[in-house]
Amino acid sequence: MEATRPAPLSGSAPDTAQIAKGALRRLALDKLEPTPDNYARAYRQEAGEPPVPAEGAAIAGLIERIVRGIERGSKGWTAARKKESLQRVLDGSRSDAKRLQQRLTQLVASWDTDPADSAATARDDNAPIEASPSAMMAFDGMAVLPWGRAVDALGGTVQQALPSVDAAPHEIATALAALTERLIGNAATPELVAELEALCQRAAPVLQHRHRLVDQLGELCRELTASLTDLAEDDSWARGQCEAMQVKIDEGLSARGVRAVSELLRDTRERQSQLRTERAHARDSLKGLINQMLSELDQLGSHTGNFHDSVSRYSGVIEKADSLESLAGAVREMVEESRTVQALVRQTQARLHEEHSRAHGLTQRVNELETEMRRLSDEVSTDQLTQIANRRGLMHAFDTERARLERSGSALAIGLLDIDNFKRLNDTFGHGVGDEALKALASVVSKTLRPTDQVARYGGEEFVVLLPDTPADEAQQILTRLQRSLTGGLFMHEQKQVFVTFSAGVSAYRVGERIEDALERADQALYEAKRSGKNRTCVA
Ligand code: GH3
Ligand code: MG
Ligand code: MG
Repeated sequence: MEATRPAPLSGSAPDTAQIAKGALRRLALDKLEPTPDNYARAYRQEAGEPPVPAEGAAIAGLIERIVRGIERGSKGWTAARKKESLQRVLDGSRSDAKRLQQRLTQLVASWDTDPADSAATARDDNAPIEASPSAMMAFDGMAVLPWGRAVDALGGTVQQALPSVDAAPHEIATALAALTERLIGNAATPELVAELEALCQRAAPVLQHRHRLVDQLGELCRELTASLTDLAEDDSWARGQCEAMQVKIDEGLSARGVRAVSELLRDTRERQSQLRTERAHARDSLKGLINQMLSELDQLGSHTGNFHDSVSRYSGVIEKADSLESLAGAVREMVEESRTVQALVRQTQARLHEEHSRAHGLTQRVNELETEMRRLSDEVSTDQLTQIANRRGLMHAFDTERARLERSGSALAIGLLDIDNFKRLNDTFGHGVGDEALKALASVVSKTLRPTDQVARYGGEEFVVLLPDTPADEAQQILTRLQRSLTGGLFMHEQKQVFVTFSAGVSAYRVGERIEDALERADQALYEAKRSGKNRTCVA
């Protein structure tokens, strides 16, 4: 850093050499190594200049914030969770000191966004309860103003909002991180505030652009959905899917909604391609049959043509026949030939008839397939693979449950389960083993829950459980117990146990709301469970 570099010994100021000597003496007295940083600090002290907050001070400040953050329990971030996420950050960024510092800064900033919960602090660590989170705090004489914490929290939030893949926003985020770090321990100077303003002005268009992008993506989804009907092979089935998608999009672009639309699109695409393959197959078979019929008709034509020629030849022979024998001979030959032709015609007729029935059968099969597709999409409530309820089955179960709730007013907990690292399981052992895992988990969950509880496969590797008469915290305990019961392995593959874990989010259903609303909250809790280490259950 330019500001911390000492002036050269042979500088023009008369006392420079004196100061340099003094600095070296100071280092010796303080028993400090003559590193560039230590020397620069000593030099400034000798020269009577105010100390510059060095990197060491920044790191010390950061460590203090971490310690303080862990001691201060908060509603969402218990001390245990804070320690765990701290460990993850340490594990993930050991090799890059700058990145480690940046990630630690972001981590403590996200702790600070949680409202303080003194009860949680006492429960977790028996740590001393903070007098007032908004009060001014002092560490080693360095005052940390509440506005500093606020700036830090806001800075952390803006950094998270900035897209990290593009170079320019990444640069803004890094600059913001560095600036908020400087703002923590310092009073607001006009220069710092101006710097912050400038950064915010650079961040604003990036964020606005993101909003526009999301709006445009929504529009694109709408367009795609609308055009799907035109492109689809089977109009009525596709229209049903499209309407379902449109409803989802109109509900608003929540994370869950967007995912549901993607899943519907994927389903539509897979079924369409399946249908198209079957149809192409049937069409090729029909083409083959028609070709065969044509060649048979051709053969028949040439035979009957020959016969026709023979008939005129025979009529000539008959006309010229001068004896009964020669006439009888010609007639016998003629009858022979006509028998052959008749037999051929009969055979061809039989074959044509047979082929016609096969063609008819194939056409019927295509129709049956189409009907089956419609039936699958419209009616079936059971998931083929796991044999538990599917999304539709879940909706039926929920409708029944809701009617009961409206009468009794009792509690209903909704749990959303998502298998951890399922893609990795598929990639390691193959899709077949992935399917086994889905079946085994569906079976374990169904067996573990009470008969009045419902479990459904909600999508790929996601399951939903409905737990009537159960408050959310009790549902959390039930699912946590289920998670622990899987630690011995879920099922056997090639004489080895396969270990599968899942994360879950729980929400309490509020009478009158749609199940999607409760699921959206459960999804946020699920996201929290994934974020904080997986294989756990969080409550919305
Ligand atoms: P996370 O822990 O964050 O949930 O990671 P993940 O790998 O489980 O999640 P991701 O959403 O990246 O991957 C889900 C995978 O599930 C991808 C997809 O291929 C697989 N999958 C979805 N449906 C099925 C299925 O019916 N059978 C199998 N074998 N795999 C499926
Ligand atoms: Mg998933
Ligand atoms: Mg998953």
